[in-house]
Amino acid sequence: MAPSITSINGQKVRFGQGLRNDICAELSGLGSAKALVLSTPQQVDMAMELATTIGDRAAGVFTRATMHTPVDVTEEAVEHAQSVLADSIVSIGGGSTIGLGKAIAQRTGLPQIAVPTTYAGSEATPILGQTEDGIKTTLTDPKVLPRVILYDPELVASLPPAMTVTSALNAMAHAAEALYAKDRTEQTTELAVDGLKAFAIGLPKVIEQPGDLTARAETQQGAWACGTVLGLVGMALHHKLCHTLGGSFDLPHAETHAIVLPHAISFNAQEVPELLAPISSILGGTSPGQALWDFARKMGAPTALKDLGLAEADLDRATEIALKNPYWNPRPVAADGLRALLQNAWAGNAPSD
Ligand code: NAD
Repeated sequence: MAPSITSINGQKVRFGQGLRNDICAELSGLGSAKALVLSTPQQVDMAMELATTIGDRAAGVFTRATMHTPVDVTEEAVEHAQSVLADSIVSIGGGSTIGLGKAIAQRTGLPQIAVPTTYAGSEATPILGQTEDGIKTTLTDPKVLPRVILYDPELVASLPPAMTVTSALNAMAHAAEALYAKDRTEQTTELAVDGLKAFAIGLPKVIEQPGDLTARAETQQGAWACGTVLGLVGMALHHKLCHTLGGSFDLPHAETHAIVLPHAISFNAQEVPELLAPISSILGGTSPGQALWDFARKMGAPTALKDLGLAEADLDRATEIALKNPYWNPRPVAADGLRALLQNAWAGNAPSD
């Protein structure tokens, strides 16, 4: 089994095949006698298996985790956790399940163990996004950072190929934007480069052979690096666009990231080509946007927002919303440039360099 490591943000992070079976040792480490296991309805089987491994120390299983962490579901889960006297939370799943664990932690202070099954990276950040009355808000609070992460490649091996690709590109988007973040440091740039390299090497192998656990483990190292860097620096235009498209047009999270990424990076590469140069050197290509576009297509990623159900008529409104309360961005963003970027991403055209 891989050795334990303590990551730079104070979490205990472990990588290794079969690590989910070590869950009781981690609960003991937290001094927990009763853990509530969380999952989505689609991952009930994984949650039940983990609860069986936990045995008597499982306080119960709550399987209603939902994308974008709706507050009403959180309130129900908090009530459930209190009624079964849970003293810790174990989240097995992707960003939606880990988001619910964070939302419970924020309200109760319960410690969490995250057992990720996608590459989204939420397990490594103190960020919590939640939705109430159709509005998504985000907060940062050290209390929501899971205390332990167990990366078990067997769990991510069941991720269907289409989601494997989009989830990986979602993770790579954190690293790509970290390269030009205003508050970047040498350490964050190194993490971002490590994350991008891990996916550049691991993802093609995983797509070729989804059950290749060595390659899956490589991609999980990438997910940790990309997630950690997301928690350390501010994001820019790419994340703003994806939040706009997800929040206001209900587009799916990982797919939207996968489609927008080459376009947003191409847009910013015109201002900070030297900061984004690692992308072309890692993925190979003439420019960072083109390199991401070629890589995404080779991996079989979706390329057009219209295929996610976005209407062309919505592009003006998306531009308008994205320009409201803009995030800091290395290149000034004006309406016409942004509208052209979105048009390309909508139609599935190559990014314009
Ligand atoms: P998800 O957690 O919503 O999972 C998508 C679907 O895939 C679900 O039905 C899930 O049950 C299923 N699934 C997950 N892993 C699986 C596996 N191994 N095998 C089979 N099915 C599996 O998707 P996501 O992309 O991981 O997370 C998206 C959410 O996470 C968004 O709400 C996003 O805002 C949030 N997020 C938050 C942060 C943060 O730092 N706060 C970071 C990244 C993402």
